Amino acid sequence: EQADALAQAGEPAVTQDGRRIEVAANVAGLDDTEQGIACGADGVGLLRSEFLYLDRSDAPSLDEQAAAYTAMAKALGPQRPLVIRTLDVGGDKPLAYLRQPAEENPFLGLRGIRLCLDQPQLLATQLQAILLAAGEGNAPLHIMFPMISSLEELRQARAILETERRAINPAPEVKIGIMIEVPSAVLLADKFAEEVDFFSIGTNDLTQYVLAMDRGNPKLSSQIDALHPAVLRMIAMTVQAAHARGKWVGLCGNLASDVEALPLLIGLELDELSASVPVIPSLKKQIRALSYGACRQLAQQALNAATVADVRALLRSK
Ligand code: PEP
Ligand code: MG
Repeated sequence: EQADALAQAGEPAVTQDGRRIEVAANVAGLDDTEQGIACGADGVGLLRSEFLYLDRSDAPSLDEQAAAYTAMAKALGPQRPLVIRTLDVGGDKPLAYLRQPAEENPFLGLRGIRLCLDQPQLLATQLQAILLAAGEGNAPLHIMFPMISSLEELRQARAILETERRAINPAPEVKIGIMIEVPSAVLLADKFAEEVDFFSIGTNDLTQYVLAMDRGNPKLSSQIDALHPAVLRMIAMTVQAAHARGKWVGLCGNLASDVEALPLLIGLELDELSASVPVIPSLKKQIRALSYGACRQLAQQALNAATVADVRALLRSK
């Protein structure tokens, strides 16, 4: 059955009633990207760019970064988008060479875009390297900012990007998006949707921040569940705000790799799911067997559930 799913993996994932879902890969480098392509990924939905920065004593050079992004953009080719998330460290992933002071609450501290805006040269170099990966025959480039919690952060990051973009002649075309993983971004999704091309929902952090539960705390691991009805309502709000403004929404947290959650995610009207590479063939295969109409009914019921247990019971009853 696995072999069967793999054989068809290159085909698009379309439900029985004609809704196409992009199934993309979460990757951390060229090897994963190549494996993703072999597993039928429609693109890279989340490149965790941290791999270039971790486990070393100084920041990666412009050339080194540009070479890495270009290799991935070439491997994907012109039909498969490459969504590059800008550096998402700080908090629990400190980098020695950034010399950031220790924080009492790292997950509420200088992480993700906040750290990059505190060290704008670091972000500028990364954006320049990403822009150098634009080119004919390469993947359409998408730049995604992590941990955005206010419009000001987006606008500041975007201003740095524009400066780098205009310095190149001709200025490369890129799509711009944000991770939706902080509750304030959900509540302001209508405003954000007016200023970006796409959203990708990071359910790992969104669940942590909605439930106020540390995602790494083993004592809470049985309770921190992205299928919590409060998280589902946030996903629905985000999708509605984006679609009303003609923007697409993906989901790149671990929930996208949860086969049991798949009909619900389709029913919540996500346009793209970005999952870990090995599950891509089976996700695509399952999507082809689903009815979008039935999934939407399921999602309506889930949005009315009171507890995670009710949501899980609902999913198992189908
Ligand atoms: C997320 O928060 O859901 C996400 C995809 O990002 P990360 O797991 O890298 O924080
Ligand atoms: Mg995250």
